[in-house]
Amino acid sequence: PDLFQPERVNSKGFDLTDQPTLATIKVARARFRNATWTAGPLLAGTTAPEAPIAVTNPFLPTDSPGTVTHASAADVETALSSATPWAAAPAERCEILNKAADLYEANFGELFALLAREAGKTPNDAVAELREAVDFLRYYGANAPQTPPAGLFTCISPWNFPLAIFTGQISAALAAGNAVLAKPADQTPLIAFRAVQLLHEAGVPASALQLLPGSGALVGAALTSDARVNGVAFTGSTATAQRIRKTMADNLTPGAPFIAETGGLNAMIVDSTALPEQAVTAIVESAFQSAGQRCSALRCLYVQEDIADNLLDMLKGAMKELTLGDPWSLSTDSGPVIDVAAQTTIADHIAVAQSEERVLYQMPTPQTGTFIAPTLIKVNGIADLEREIFGPVLHVATFKASELDAVIDAINATGYGLTFGLQTRIDDRVQHVSDRIAAGNIYINRNQIGAIVGSQPFGGEGLSGTGPKAGGPHYLPRFAKVTPQLGGT
Ligand code: NAP
Repeated sequence: PDLFQPERVNSKGFDLTDQPTLATIKVARARFRNATWTAGPLLAGTTAPEAPIAVTNPFLPTDSPGTVTHASAADVETALSSATPWAAAPAERCEILNKAADLYEANFGELFALLAREAGKTPNDAVAELREAVDFLRYYGANAPQTPPAGLFTCISPWNFPLAIFTGQISAALAAGNAVLAKPADQTPLIAFRAVQLLHEAGVPASALQLLPGSGALVGAALTSDARVNGVAFTGSTATAQRIRKTMADNLTPGAPFIAETGGLNAMIVDSTALPEQAVTAIVESAFQSAGQRCSALRCLYVQEDIADNLLDMLKGAMKELTLGDPWSLSTDSGPVIDVAAQTTIADHIAVAQSEERVLYQMPTPQTGTFIAPTLIKVNGIADLEREIFGPVLHVATFKASELDAVIDAINATGYGLTFGLQTRIDDRVQHVSDRIAAGNIYINRNQIGAIVGSQPFGGEGLSGTGPKAGGPHYLPRFAKVTPQLGGT
């Protein structure tokens, strides 16, 4: 139970099918259509600022939502030397994190505008993201532990959930009483800056929460290699997590907690008993919502041979109905990918498939913005995917009924284990497959994206993460002081 708030409930969010709600959102966002923000280090001390850099809108290259000043080496030193664990009692931490949640909700118009213009988030995605951020603040606050904190935690986040994951990491570390040094992704510093301002406004002391925008190679590396850091919470790619783990092993106190939530090669199995309409809806949402830029997104679909032609025809039909375009627009289903570098990497992958005549279908590509049009690519199996392609590209394989266990083995053999989806109407099969699949979050007869703080914790295993799952009861204890274990027999 939530100790300080047994009555805690998750945020209601916004119902985008309700006309008055839509009108309210439109008005609240409109003020920020042409606004510009400035972000930079938020430190407990002062240093000389670096030159500001323009932040870009992935949909409109001519629109810059603002500028960011990166943290310098001197800023990193200032932050490390001034960081002070949050001394407030657990109940007070809870109260302040709740106040921050209220401030996030009160500023929804500005946050939705930032999510659209800095991160390319559609209204649906922005609503879900704000809800999750607010839920993290209230959930971790309500469960703030009495145990001593680890001390100083570095939190490093990705651009694909620039508000929810950024807030989730730091609110957990703060709820446990740590000092936090937060490094947001290079592409999304403005949202992070506003979030930290709101947390400070709510009452989190400046010395307990400092923001250091900058590159991973410089700022991220500095914040994970200093012996004054007692733990690291990281969400991002598996390769970066592996690099950070090595850096920590070389520089930090042995046993310093490392909480990593990383990438996935997520699969879905659709057998011949599945409801085709339900399966197609789940596939489209899982593979193409948020332009496929979710760690949970479906990457490899296995369809039973007998129904494959019909299901793929329906899938192409559903893809044709998607609206790609300006994330600001309420009618947009999917926006651009985050930047030109991402677009190039994904386009190169598709080009290889094109040269091998394996592209089954690709939607028309919009002319403006860093778009990748949703694409279906034929593969023999998941083993053909050498790495996570972080965009709206779905790989499709077929299987015979007799090959089900071989498919499960192939999925497990990737070593990743984040999300998995199953579409079937056979009860025994649900049990059989769920028992054998190695994945953190398993979704039956629905899409395989999304999680719910407090009731459906999220996190992977193997190459997909260290655990414990975010938004669940085992997460906060990892931010507490580690008691050295005596060796022996
Ligand atoms: P990324 O390239 O690994 O970057 C993540 C963060 O790490 C960024 O802030 C990055 O900084 C920083 N970083 C890079 N190199 C570093 C280093 N040497 N030391 C310290 N920090 C460093 O990942 P991304 O492209 O932003 O995000 C997409 C990935 O995140 C995908 O693989 C996705 O599956 C994964 N993801 C996982 C989850 C989950 O819950 N499992 C959730 C969301 C995303 P800069 O970018 O500023 O250089």
